[in-house]
Amino acid sequence: MGEPLYRRVVIKLSGEYFAGDQSFGIDQPTIDRIAGDLIAAQQLGVEVAVVVGGGNIFRGVEVSARGVSRPTGDTMGMLATVMNCLALEAAIERRAVPARTLSAMVMPQVCELFTRSAAHKCLSEGRIVLLAGGTGNPYFTTDTTAVLRAAEIGAQAVLKATNVDGVYSADPKKDPAATRFERLSHSQAVEGNYKVMDATAFALARETLLPIIVFSIAEPGSIGAILSGTGRGTIVAG
Ligand code: UDP
Repeated sequence: MGEPLYRRVVIKLSGEYFAGDQSFGIDQPTIDRIAGDLIAAQQLGVEVAVVVGGGNIFRGVEVSARGVSRPTGDTMGMLATVMNCLALEAAIERRAVPARTLSAMVMPQVCELFTRSAAHKCLSEGRIVLLAGGTGNPYFTTDTTAVLRAAEIGAQAVLKATNVDGVYSADPKKDPAATRFERLSHSQAVEGNYKVMDATAFALARETLLPIIVFSIAEPGSIGAILSGTGRGTIVAG
């Protein structure tokens, strides 16, 4: 196999995916499969940092619809991402590959705090780094976190794993006429208001000149395929 396209990447995994076929919680076989895919990606010679969502447990907007303040709901969402990271860290380490959860929120009994230097050190030691707690601020998403952290740690791309194989003109699960884009500029992605990723994330990627590759994680090995240049997805760049 040839050289990977990138040396350091941030992979964004949505929490929803962690629930497997359930609508809530953590599905262990799914986590184990993701752990295997991440390890295979790292074995291509890529430094792998992962931003994990929390939508399988809590989303701030949904919690606040039930009467909790939005910042509190968002804090619950950020804590959910920590739980997902700990589950994924355990699944990776069970396969004898070192992983480290770094959190945006201070929680010394649970995991280390995210700093750029801690992330650089862990990546250069060959650990898979799991970035927990989102940005640490309410009103943001883990999509935006992925772009922010990629810019901070000098990653060359953000790989946004979803359940569809790229950015579509409309939701392909609802609209049979939806077409898939092979490539979009950052500005087109921002202006298109595509549901697959939030506009704040695309706008930050435009400002920091970071490519985002949107692809489906449904097929085992898809992360490695994207990194090898043989995968299917939409590239948002330029
Ligand atoms: N969140 C937040 N700030 C951040 C990142 C996430 O407040 O910087 C909260 C927000 O409530 C969000 C929840 O954490 O709904 C889970 O993140 P997200 O919805 O991005 O997860 P995903 O949809 O990827 O599972």
